[in-house]
Amino acid sequence: MGVSLMQQPDKVYDVIIIGAGPAGTTAGLYTARAGWKTLLLYRAEADGALAITQKIENYPGVPGPVSGYELLKTMREQAKKFGAEFVRGKVIATDLKSDPKKVYTIDGREFRGKTIIVASGAMERANKFKGEEEFLGRGVSYCGVCDAAFFKDQPVAVIGDDDYAIEEAEFIARFASKVYFIVPGSKIKAPPEVIEHFKKLPNVEILLRHRVIEIVGDQVVKGIRLKDLETGEEKFLEVNGVFIFLGGTKPSVDFLMGQVEMTDGDCIVVNEEMMTSVPGVFAAGDVLCNEVKQAVVAAAMGCKAALAVDKFLSGKEKIVPQW
Ligand SMILES: Cc1cc2nc3c(=O)[nH]c(=O)nc-3n(C[C@H](O)[C@H](O)[C@H](O)COP(=O)(O)OP(=O)(O)OC[C@H]3O[C@@H](n4cnc5c(N)ncnc54)[C@H](O)[C@@H]3O)c2cc1C
Repeated sequence: MGVSLMQQPDKVYDVIIIGAGPAGTTAGLYTARAGWKTLLLYRAEADGALAITQKIENYPGVPGPVSGYELLKTMREQAKKFGAEFVRGKVIATDLKSDPKKVYTIDGREFRGKTIIVASGAMERANKFKGEEEFLGRGVSYCGVCDAAFFKDQPVAVIGDDDYAIEEAEFIARFASKVYFIVPGSKIKAPPEVIEHFKKLPNVEILLRHRVIEIVGDQVVKGIRLKDLETGEEKFLEVNGVFIFLGGTKPSVDFLMGQVEMTDGDCIVVNEEMMTSVPGVFAAGDVLCNEVKQAVVAAAMGCKAALAVDKFLSGKEKIVPQW
């Protein structure tokens, strides 16, 4: 299982922002408005902490209540108006020492940037399921685009509870004979129209309130053991593949591959100008493990990081505010 790497021919962005939540989008609005060629990469449309927030009424200037996703869409439109490019793609690796710096997405694309802002939030899973590591690459996968075709006309399980998981599951459902969509909680955190569309797919069965006990097999995956939290009943589903797209509360930093200084808890260390230990690499928002996790704070950090990028790229002596 795997993908080959394709290059974006010779295009170099001034800044690549990883994440399109309030931190990344605000950063993109500022860098694009300052005239820097700006690219934002994100995993799925309604992905990230703000995008899954059902109701927000404490964002200044937006009396609301509005859904977090509606607020985010307005922010993104504003950034696009100034020329920021938004591209869907889960970042899985980076080369921060090269010049320009390189960013790789799970579908095999390579993007190049003179600077990087990491704004990928803190929704990574901390714990693994029993059998997950054992069967990784032998039925367990974290990438629909890469691996769905291996499960043509076979039953699979997809574990997740948000828009990102649904987008992946819809792609997988084009190949698999049956997709069991396993949701640990009682709700899917995605826009209602997305859920409605997903429910209509004939080969998809949604199992709400089902906890994964174990992924089982011999050489390859043969099935998955679940507990129905509604009835207490244990179930075994015969599947050949298990795709996992669940989130948690850990910073999303795997793609940095230890290239920047971090604390023990995977929190990126930044200076007063939001720059990491690698010159030209900045970070903003929940990914920094800040105590106050609020959209307005993430947006403010995105602004600071963007102005620091402006200083870095233009060689100015100090940060200059935008008027
Ligand atoms: C349930 C809930 C309710 C909340 N309610 C409020 C509220 O009422 N008011 C308030 O102010 N705050 C609220 N918050 C907090 C607020 O949503 C967060 O502090 C804020 O969204 C953080 O912004 P961020 O940009 O750092 O990260 P996020 O909003 O989490 O965005 C992260 C971005 O990174 C992308 N990403 C992640 N990994 C990758 C990768 N590998 N490759 C590419 N892209 C990636 C995601 O797709 C997403 O675009 C709430 C949070 C939650 C979870």
